[in-house]
Amino acid sequence: MTRKISRRRFLAEASAAGAGIAHGLPKTVAAAGAAVVPAAYVPNQKPALLGGQPVRKAPFPSWPRYGQLEEKALLDVLHSGKWFRGDGQNVNRFETAFAQATGSKYCVATANGTSALITSIAALGIGASDEVIIPPYTFIATINSVLLHYALPVFVDSDPETFQIDARKIEAAITERIAAIMPVHLGGSAADLDTILAVAAKHKLPVIEDACQAHMAEWKGRKLATYGATGCFSFQASKNLNSGEGGAILTQDEELAEKCFAFHNNCRGKKTDSYDFSYRGMRGANLRLTEFQAALLVAQMTRLEEQSRIRVQNAQYLTSMLSEIKGIAPARMYPGCTRNAYHLYMFRYQSPQFANLPRAKFLKALAAEGVPASAGYAPLNKEPFLKTTLTSRGYQKIYSKEQIARWEQRNQCPENDRLCQEAVWFTQNMLLGSRSDMEQIAEAIRKIHEHAAELARA
Ligand SMILES: *Cc1c(COP(=O)(O)O)cnc(C)c1O
Repeated sequence: MTRKISRRRFLAEASAAGAGIAHGLPKTVAAAGAAVVPAAYVPNQKPALLGGQPVRKAPFPSWPRYGQLEEKALLDVLHSGKWFRGDGQNVNRFETAFAQATGSKYCVATANGTSALITSIAALGIGASDEVIIPPYTFIATINSVLLHYALPVFVDSDPETFQIDARKIEAAITERIAAIMPVHLGGSAADLDTILAVAAKHKLPVIEDACQAHMAEWKGRKLATYGATGCFSFQASKNLNSGEGGAILTQDEELAEKCFAFHNNCRGKKTDSYDFSYRGMRGANLRLTEFQAALLVAQMTRLEEQSRIRVQNAQYLTSMLSEIKGIAPARMYPGCTRNAYHLYMFRYQSPQFANLPRAKFLKALAAEGVPASAGYAPLNKEPFLKTTLTSRGYQKIYSKEQIARWEQRNQCPENDRLCQEAVWFTQNMLLGSRSDMEQIAEAIRKIHEHAAELARA
């Protein structure tokens, strides 16, 4: 019998016994003194990176998931010959369905998540000479949406415990130039909305929720992206709801919904039937979703609730196991976050607890065990493109040298710098696996922990 088969049998027995696996031995089996001793489990087996057997060889669930429903939806659009939202009904249908699923009054579908953010900023009349508060720990699109409007992104440091913007530090960053607060619900967990909304209300600032990773996630039982002036989603291929590319804006404000619609439709409103190209005096762009994408999204939405439930279950199980490992700190959730979308499973890797094994090598060792993981974002507030943009001709005409110098001085996020060095992510599709997949992830990390010194030397 090979080690691999034995280990699999051990895991099967351990989970059959309802046992969480403790360090090395399954708790309940050991405690009960059961006859089925997992003799095959070899705690000191060699790490795969050093030539040992990997913990797992099977791939994690693939993404996206689709079937006949999606096939039919796409073919129906194809055969209808109506591929554009102006002709068809699928985009309207999706907007209605997504608004209903999130409990939102209005929904405007967009070409992608970046477009949803750009449209929100435009609809709120934010632009040149304005400043927008954003977290440094996010996807680059959050920053680009601000920069494309010639506004200044003002970074507020991260809360390393949660990976979210540290809402307690927002107020100190507010000046008279701040025109909006743009929190990101990173990884599908929630930023501290109570604190953010209170500060925003006090200073009469709109909140744009970047919920591009937070489909169906909730704060105090209500869906994220329904608290701010607008909330933005992405349906890009990696996201929990996917049409290759796609996006949406939620808002509870009818006028704002009309403005968003107009902006994404080359400044033509839903209610204008003539060629009125200056609806509400706005500029605009074409940021529309196609009928194909909308049809795909309506079909994919039938899977979303079940997939979200599985991710939560697996993530909670994984957290219960990883919390036992010294040097692994799973991202905490704020108490108000009543539902996490787990677009990412995030934790901090603390190398001192792993014999100073560098994170890059930890990730390599983990991949060798059959568990792919990512180091996540780099500190975006320090990216060279920012400096290039701020010293560009356009920016220099809008902002004085002193203003830019002050911006640079303020642009310090030490907690985030550390977070970027410690972060490790698993992608959402891994959480669609089985309980034993989660056990193997934990086992791989425990194995590396046990052999950390050896790996660090190698
Ligand atoms: C994906 C993402 C976006 C942008 O979405 P696209 O659809 O790729 O344009 C914006 N913000 C965050 C946090 C994201 O994860």
